[in-house]
Amino acid sequence: MVIVMKPHVTQQAIEAMVRQLEQDYKVQVGVTNGVDCSILGLVGDTTHIDLDKLSMDDNVERVMRVQEPYKKANRNFHPKDSVVDVSGVKIGGGSFTVIAGPCSVESPEQIVSVAQDVKAAGARLLRGGAFKPRTSPYSFQGMGEDGLTLLLQAKAATGLPIVTEIMSPKHCQLFEETVDLVQVGARNMQNFDLLKEVGKMSKPILLKRGLANTYEEWVMSAEYIMAAGNENVILCERGVRTFETYTRNTLDLSAVPVIKKMSHLPIVVDPSHAAGMYWMVEPLAMAAAAVGADGLMVEVHNDPPNAKCDGQQSLTPANFRRLMDKLAPLAALMGRSL
Ligand code: PEP
Ligand code: MN
Repeated sequence: MVIVMKPHVTQQAIEAMVRQLEQDYKVQVGVTNGVDCSILGLVGDTTHIDLDKLSMDDNVERVMRVQEPYKKANRNFHPKDSVVDVSGVKIGGGSFTVIAGPCSVESPEQIVSVAQDVKAAGARLLRGGAFKPRTSPYSFQGMGEDGLTLLLQAKAATGLPIVTEIMSPKHCQLFEETVDLVQVGARNMQNFDLLKEVGKMSKPILLKRGLANTYEEWVMSAEYIMAAGNENVILCERGVRTFETYTRNTLDLSAVPVIKKMSHLPIVVDPSHAAGMYWMVEPLAMAAAAVGADGLMVEVHNDPPNAKCDGQQSLTPANFRRLMDKLAPLAALMGRSL
């Protein structure tokens, strides 16, 4: 961190500030005296320093961070790619892992048949919402705990580990006992109380990017989970809001190389919630594989026109199989195994 002092601040005031900084924050401070102003360079752990508070000092012109505010998620402190193990399925570090399933769990027949179909096509994890974050309170809200029971039934039938969204900290214990990969949805990316609580869980977390959040805000949310003790975090790009309304969201594929530069955490792409239309899912999924993502999350439904949620963006099992067949050679070309 660098503090630029205002011109003509006295040496006495600078020395007092250095002493104060060393005492308050246990950092070392180097002083560079220029012709008109001095610059203080802070060395040590500056994560706890409040930039805005320092900027309010009458003698301070500007305060700048030279390092990112995240440590645990930072690629600089952990150069090797992290590999997250989801009940035996590895995400990151050379594999291309496909998570597939319906937006919501609707019935035993539906979830078991979709689980069997996506498994046969090569998916490694089953998704399905039980607690749904819906824009309208009048829309289907998910089956709740019964949905988790049905997911376990589908897991027993196929062996696929299950991924589902948590909406409330009060469900952490229940999810700890039932779910293999705990999804924090876009709408909750900055629900810091929820992030702190899932950070205490032993299960890995799939953290979706918020509806309009920057890369740094997203990585800082991962940092919340990691700082609470859970370092098994997978990021998921699912499109962001832009001026364009033709698509449900705008898929930001730049997120993949940027996140790989910023962080060692794996990143998967959800083309379904980005596009909002089933016919765009295949090209966007291929693009995600080509740009270096560690996997995909794709919505698949046995009867899309009658789905209780997100039917318009869901692939039929046949279309999903076609996508998987196309992905296999591309993943191999990228040096990854499906
Ligand atoms: C979902 O995966 O079902 C979902 C609601 O996604 P998002 O949080 O990305 O909108
Ligand atoms: Mn959905």
